Amino acid sequence: MTIDHAARRARLAAALPAHEVPALLVTSPVNVRYLTGLVSSNAAVLVRADGSALLATDNRYIDKTRALDVPAVEAPDVAGRLAAPGVGIEAAAMTVATFRRLEAGLEESGGGRLVPLGPLVEELRAVKDEAELELIRTACALTDQAFADVLPLIAPGLTERALARLLDNRMTELGADKPAFDTIVAAGENGAIPHHAPTDRELRAGDLVTMDFGARYHGYHADMTRTVCLGAPAAWQRDLYDLVRRAQRAGRHALTPGAQAKDVDAAARGLIEAAGHGEHFRHGLGHGVGLEIHEDPFLGPSRTGRLEDRVPITVEPGIYLPERGGVRIEDTLVTREGGPELFTKTTKELLVL
Ligand code: ZN
Ligand code: ZN
Repeated sequence: MTIDHAARRARLAAALPAHEVPALLVTSPVNVRYLTGLVSSNAAVLVRADGSALLATDNRYIDKTRALDVPAVEAPDVAGRLAAPGVGIEAAAMTVATFRRLEAGLEESGGGRLVPLGPLVEELRAVKDEAELELIRTACALTDQAFADVLPLIAPGLTERALARLLDNRMTELGADKPAFDTIVAAGENGAIPHHAPTDRELRAGDLVTMDFGARYHGYHADMTRTVCLGAPAAWQRDLYDLVRRAQRAGRHALTPGAQAKDVDAAARGLIEAAGHGEHFRHGLGHGVGLEIHEDPFLGPSRTGRLEDRVPITVEPGIYLPERGGVRIEDTLVTREGGPELFTKTTKELLVL
């Protein structure tokens, strides 16, 4: 499946009149990639309301632009090359220093202001086309396969860091660009820290071990968390796991086009609160995934907005008991009219190793 970048630029162009700008100067590297296909660390693209566009990048990347369907110019100062009076800029992607420099440049050439705008391209990116969904589906399949391959190696004596490395290496061997983010492995009491960075702590019998990881494939991200138990689980561990699993299922089932972001969160959180663990679940239920690992939309108690069709998103409730440990279960799914499609297919039965 090929990606139609011109269609994406046309959708952006159609959104510009409502913001009363003749063009948008896009400087976020991931948004430039989305609109043109150019993967770089220094590029900008000016998308005009008539759908035409001009790309600027420096001499390291200019050769790559020849294969693209958008005209390109070489410039060391990519934003300065494209800035023009009255055009919109991505406020979240431009530093104040750059903004001031560009405005000073416009001043010298006769005046005119830039118009800081919100996340226009990010809003377009939330709904994926089928080509993007196929890449995320593949990223998730690589993630599942890496977990299946590493599972037999998980045993007492292995350190958190060594286990994280096994997952990272396996994903890369299977064809991932690289890990989608810094892999989390949290054993025993460390499982009480949602974003624990792996240490040299060894896995021990009786530990719950949480692994949060994913593959990146052609720029698109997967995100999955599983918690396993080393040796037979204690009653509290099994109870905690069952509760998180029920909450995760409720969250998945609430994931329909048209649902409010906060209602999806509440479907899972309500079960955890009713069991007396509300204070032990302190993060949002999930987030969109795509060219970034965390992108719109976000699921949480104070999040506004409704889900649309074809939005890849995670559902990841967790319960974290200070000094004892924790459980998190996370899948990547995509909203569909007939019910969500599950991308990460690893079992959610409690695996006892
Ligand atoms: Zn995750
Ligand atoms: Zn996540």
